[in-house]
Amino acid sequence: MATYNNQLTIHEAHKLLMEKKVSSVELTEACLERIKQVEPHVSAIVTVTDELAMEQARRADELIASGDSRPLTGIPTLIKDVMCTRGVRTTCSSKMLENFVPPYDATVVEKLNSAGMVMVGKANMDEFAMGSSTEHSAFFPTHNPWDLSRVPGGSSGGSAAAVAAGEAVYALGSDTGGSIRQPAGFCSVTGLKPTYGRVSRYGLVAFASSLDQIGPLTQDVTDCALVMNAIAGHDSRDSTSAPYSVPDYTQCLTGEIKGMKIGIPKEYFVEGMQPEVETAMKVAIAKLEELGASVGWEVSLPSTPHALAVYYIIAPSEASANLARYDGTKYGFRYQGAETMWDTMDKTRQHGFGAEVKRRIMLGTYALSAGYYDAYYLKAQKVRTLIRREFDAAFEKYDVLVTPTSPTVPFKIGEKLDDPVQMYLSDVCTLPINIAGLPAISIPVGFADDLPIGMQIIGKPFAEETILKIAHTYQEATEWHKRRPEL
Ligand code: GLN
Repeated sequence: MATYNNQLTIHEAHKLLMEKKVSSVELTEACLERIKQVEPHVSAIVTVTDELAMEQARRADELIASGDSRPLTGIPTLIKDVMCTRGVRTTCSSKMLENFVPPYDATVVEKLNSAGMVMVGKANMDEFAMGSSTEHSAFFPTHNPWDLSRVPGGSSGGSAAAVAAGEAVYALGSDTGGSIRQPAGFCSVTGLKPTYGRVSRYGLVAFASSLDQIGPLTQDVTDCALVMNAIAGHDSRDSTSAPYSVPDYTQCLTGEIKGMKIGIPKEYFVEGMQPEVETAMKVAIAKLEELGASVGWEVSLPSTPHALAVYYIIAPSEASANLARYDGTKYGFRYQGAETMWDTMDKTRQHGFGAEVKRRIMLGTYALSAGYYDAYYLKAQKVRTLIRREFDAAFEKYDVLVTPTSPTVPFKIGEKLDDPVQMYLSDVCTLPINIAGLPAISIPVGFADDLPIGMQIIGKPFAEETILKIAHTYQEATEWHKRRPEL
């Protein structure tokens, strides 16, 4: 098909659909073809839903013909395999849920369906979203389309790699400590983690319930705004979703950032940061200044160095409670041939969970156990409050804060597998944002030896519009987000 080159954004594809220059069936066929072509190298997708996609595409074309379409109608997308899809296997890239077919849709899936979504598949991820490289998938690792010997980041590595590789026009991911932003940075796509409570978590398989959020991975900021318009909002089935009305997120994309105040927290320019990342950040910040923003370099968030420890107490604690449901009786994998109920439970977990998930469950149960609760969990919650207050104070002076998304470019597959702490460190810049419940976006700001570098823009709670506005203005003035890997 001549008009589709696997690099169309949502807004470009929508325009072509409206002008009847392309049909959703054609767009979908092109994506499925691209999937066939690149999946043997990238491995971003656990389940390709080609039949469903074609059926949805035909329906979308009918909607478009009848004049009843929305911005996402007929646009091929990929959903991270941690969100429940009715009738479609939802594995969390775990043996535990390898054959689990949910009887219901997550709220975000329901919303996208009513917007006329075409789902081409379910994206690979680190098992139960625990990881930073997608190497912890129980099925296969995903490869970075910019360099197939490197990781795409994680845990939404499948979503990010697929968007970068043109296998879908956009994708949904989830972010507990960086899992949308870090892979977006590693794959040179745009990824937004909304404010905690902005998007319903109903039907999102829980990892750490006080940190998890769903968000878009797209080719540019405009697309991000379009997806947010469709998925954000209160949901009576998620009591932590915020009862606030949803703005039209495209309205803030004015290109006007004169006088906006950007703070650069010094603790984020950490030791061990790759020099090329620092250089790219400085150039990007200078660009924002040139575009009219004022930049303050004197911001300090002194508790930042404790964020990693706080996260690795709180997230595993919540995970240990959430994952207790996988016991071999209710649903999912059950070990066959054990003698007693306890033995079944024991062996189910032994064989059903991968090493990283077991590590988190052990860390969490330990931190929550009587005698250690005060020393670890309670202390971590106190430091969490401090971290949050430091952000509040910084936001009294600044509209947004800007940091690198990750301290390095994508690392080699296998490089950090044997050293969990090194792996955890690739999220130092993103974890604190979840701890404080804030919104943040990662956008492409350059390359080091053809490997992507991302910049993170952090906003006040529910100020997604502010970060989208700044990110969009930056993209209007630069070309980084338009580069695509050669595959
Ligand atoms: N890499 C972090 C972890 O392993 C964050 C994961 C996430 O955001 N889901 O927990």
